[in-house]
Amino acid sequence: MNSLQSDVERRGEQIFELVDQHPESLFSKAGFYQRMMALSMRDEHFKVQMFRFVDVLASLKRGNEIVRHLDEYFEDTSNGFTPLIRTGVQLAKVAPWISGQVLRWNVSGMARQFIAGKNSRDVMKTLRKRREQGIGFTVDLLGEAVVSEQEATEYAARCMELLEHLAAQTEGWRDPLGNGEQLFPVVNLSIKISALYSQMNPADPHDAIAHLGGKLRPILRRARELGAFINFDMESYAHKNATLELFRTLFSEPEFLDWPHVGIVIQAYLRDSEEDLWKLIDWGRTRGTRFAVRLVKGAYWDYEKIKARQNGWPVPVYLQKPESDANFEALSRILLENESIVTAAFGSHNVRSIAHAQALAEDLGIDRSRFEFQLLYGMAGPVKRALVEMGYRVREYCPVGELLPGMSYLVRRLLENTSNEGFLRAKFSENVSATQLLRNPVELVDQSTNGARDLTARSQDRHVRNGATLETPPGDTYENAPLVNFVHEEARERMLVALHEVRSGLGKKYPLVIGGKKIWMDKTIASINPSSPDQVVGHLCEAGIPEAERAISAAKHAFEAWSHTSVENRARLLERVASIMDRRRFELSALEVFEVGKQWAEADGDIREAMDFCLFYARQMRLRGRPRLTQHVPGEESYQHYWPRGIALVIAPWNFPIAIMCGMVSAALVTGNTVIMKPAEQSAVCGAMLMEIFEEAGIPPGVLNFLPGKGSIIGAHLVDHKDVDVIAFTGSREVGLRIWESAGKTREGQRELKRVVCEMGGKNAVIIDSDADLDEAIVDTIYSAFGYQGQKCSACSRLIVLEENYGRVIERLLSAAASLRIGNPEDPGVTIGPVIDEAAYNRIREFIEIGKGESTLAYQKGNIPEKGYFIPPTIFTRVNPNARIACEEIFGPVLSVIKVADLDEAIAVANNTDYALTSGFFSRSPANIERAKAELIAGNVYINRSCTGAVVGRHPFGGFKMSGGGTKAGGEDYLLNFMVPRVVTENIMRHGFAPESTPLYRDEFLPLNGKRRR
Ligand SMILES: Cc1cc2nc3c(=O)[nH]c(=O)nc-3n(C[C@H](O)[C@H](O)[C@H](O)COP(=O)(O)OP(=O)(O)OC[C@H]3O[C@@H](n4cnc5c(N)ncnc54)[C@H](O)[C@@H]3O)c2cc1C
Repeated sequence: MNSLQSDVERRGEQIFELVDQHPESLFSKAGFYQRMMALSMRDEHFKVQMFRFVDVLASLKRGNEIVRHLDEYFEDTSNGFTPLIRTGVQLAKVAPWISGQVLRWNVSGMARQFIAGKNSRDVMKTLRKRREQGIGFTVDLLGEAVVSEQEATEYAARCMELLEHLAAQTEGWRDPLGNGEQLFPVVNLSIKISALYSQMNPADPHDAIAHLGGKLRPILRRARELGAFINFDMESYAHKNATLELFRTLFSEPEFLDWPHVGIVIQAYLRDSEEDLWKLIDWGRTRGTRFAVRLVKGAYWDYEKIKARQNGWPVPVYLQKPESDANFEALSRILLENESIVTAAFGSHNVRSIAHAQALAEDLGIDRSRFEFQLLYGMAGPVKRALVEMGYRVREYCPVGELLPGMSYLVRRLLENTSNEGFLRAKFSENVSATQLLRNPVELVDQSTNGARDLTARSQDRHVRNGATLETPPGDTYENAPLVNFVHEEARERMLVALHEVRSGLGKKYPLVIGGKKIWMDKTIASINPSSPDQVVGHLCEAGIPEAERAISAAKHAFEAWSHTSVENRARLLERVASIMDRRRFELSALEVFEVGKQWAEADGDIREAMDFCLFYARQMRLRGRPRLTQHVPGEESYQHYWPRGIALVIAPWNFPIAIMCGMVSAALVTGNTVIMKPAEQSAVCGAMLMEIFEEAGIPPGVLNFLPGKGSIIGAHLVDHKDVDVIAFTGSREVGLRIWESAGKTREGQRELKRVVCEMGGKNAVIIDSDADLDEAIVDTIYSAFGYQGQKCSACSRLIVLEENYGRVIERLLSAAASLRIGNPEDPGVTIGPVIDEAAYNRIREFIEIGKGESTLAYQKGNIPEKGYFIPPTIFTRVNPNARIACEEIFGPVLSVIKVADLDEAIAVANNTDYALTSGFFSRSPANIERAKAELIAGNVYINRSCTGAVVGRHPFGGFKMSGGGTKAGGEDYLLNFMVPRVVTENIMRHGFAPESTPLYRDEFLPLNGKRRR
């Protein structure tokens, strides 16, 4: 054993001895709380329900509401806690007020365990007590992500007030060790950066830094005057780079350049933490003034893992606990070896991590007065005491605030305390031995493959299942394409380069493509940039009736060979298309920014969806395309399979200019149809790009034909055409219904009944229940209503709010809307761009005028760009559910808010529309959530999340009633719309003899001699 390891063990054992001299359970408060935590560790289901109940409790005002939630959360729980709950519920029925309050009191007690005080005055009691124990403090004001600038400004003011108060109240206090004031001022404030700016966008760190700098400078100046220390806490990975950059930027400014009392957090669970730490140290050396780093493992481990998996990103955190522990130790060494420029604060409760830092400092000859240990309020009390007794500097992290804003903090602490892999649980609840707890994590990483096994097992599992059977959940048959993560500078750079390149190529002329030939026409349609209408994105040759006829002949001709191309070859073509899109991803996104006014992330989402459609339909076709046995019966084999319908006409919208068009086209092609693709006039350059990509992927001549032109002329002509067999349309209700009707007529010479795949609009409602988490509900509603300027068919246009919550919802909603950034979406931080064109602009403005007559215009943002089709986010309140703005589709950033008495009325209002596309519900009542799931009439019902942003395979998308024909794009049965089923039955018995078994699948029925079907 090396000497460092033996010193770590010696010190660790010493800490444990001191800890054991003052035995304390994991949770110092006995009774209700301790019992609950013990149960949470034993019973995962109980733990989930318990944390969810705790999460909602602070927002419940009435006793009977508390009791109802308790009943709902623990209805199906049966363990030692059940009798207590049942008794509570019974009691509550007699005296709801009393039992509700008792429960609230108990849970508040639980929160008080981790929250050091309600406000700046209250916290002083705790700080004085700690002072007597020789423990310093850093105070953190609770309240994380804010939804509006108003809330951010309030947070900044509260920070200032807290700072003043702490400075005044601690006058005359000295450093607990008596020798470190130069490095460790008494007053220490920890700041959550995301609470100071509501519009932090990973794509635009410069904007975040500019805004945050403005808010922070007065606080920093005052802190410096008062001789206080300021620490920037670290939150989720999405904000990490901006927070680091903000730190470096601000403290490089002349007025703060020589100020040493500033610190930032490095999270050792992040794989890139070492690189970040080195960058900070290099910066510090150039700056020439000390600064501090609080080294922690990190508080958002579960969240980071889930988010990364949802978006297809590499998981930024280590997956094995010992990896985080080992990295903590490696970073401890870097910090201590660079002690000449950086002051280390070790933020951990883990005795091994702490003992390692102590031993290393000793080894490097660093005096214990030059670094410190930081631990959280309410946790690991005996460890703090032991460290003080050993003569180390200890600082306690003391959160201050009310219960409601403290909930996410409380839940994080509960998770941490009950985590299977956490040190505190192992030591204080499961009494794991000191020897075990002090093992070198580096060796554990080598031995234990726990985390890695978990991951590989899952991904192997996925590959085994991939496309294997029809029972596989459809979304599991392939892996979604990842989104671009604009957190990374490289991604932002690539987007900027793409914008530059696309801008320099604007204004080109694009041909029709028919039968593999480019056709140039004199007559063109200009596609313009809605942010800057004098900028032409491209000139599209305009097809007329003769070209439409030519396209029909080309598609007809190509059908013969294409319909007999094997499923595998057709699927591969789509996969090539997806990989070309991947290669040209930034260019395509940039084009969408110019042509349809999409923000960066929205544009990228569209390209990702297009790739997903290709990959998903390719997989699905491999499954569907093989003839499948209909029944096991002796002596006969009967196989069902599918034939393409014929010629598909794809009429695409402009709002998802590449994704929706690509989705309809790829479904039609992979099923063996030939296609005439008509893009929307407003997004025809995107259509031309898609054609180019299919050509590069090797689409045979005539299989896909590109036919931009006027919907009223060629669209109408082709819809009525006798040779068109399938029409895939996404667009307005008006046009959709005309197509539906026209396709119902059989024309002379027509051989097939036309199939219409029709996706139209919505008048989508979101309900906010009285117990909803408003931090989430407001952010998600704003996104659902105003994301891409409300021009998604899934967008929320009616917000239904229960009256109990109404005042608070409106207040936060209006200030959140007021904080949105409007402008040209070339700017990465913009959230609201222009609407698509002049006609849309005029129509939406007309609706706003109608709204003013029908209800109250509660909010309309001023200060919008003069040039371009910009319409500010507009909110109407007191809207009658039968008003025109509450019934008619507006397709713009206009939200109608409707107040209702209760959930019955809310659901009735939500359902009372001609449409049934999406619907949303925010609630923390399990019973109400079940009701919404069952009763909301919509093709896609979203609970506690935004009602837009469907992901292929995960959220098959599409509505019914006047929203569409009930087909689900990105779902397992979508391809069936493009095919006709066929069954081939053979008597396989000869003279009473038949094979014993028949295979479940057989090869495709492909003609050997290329004989034609039509
Ligand atoms: C004073 C103080 C301030 C803090 N400030 C911040 C802050 O600003 N930002 C922040 O994010 N965190 C912060 N933390 C850290 C965080 O809140 C946790 O307290 C800390 O991660 C727990 O680590 P530990 O060493 O005490 O316990 P341990 O039990 O040794 O470690 C638990 C930690 O290990 C990591 N982990 C758990 N499971 C795995 C796994 N399977 N694979 C890989 N890693 C895993 C997680 O980070 C988890 O929190 C702070 C902590 C303290 C004490």
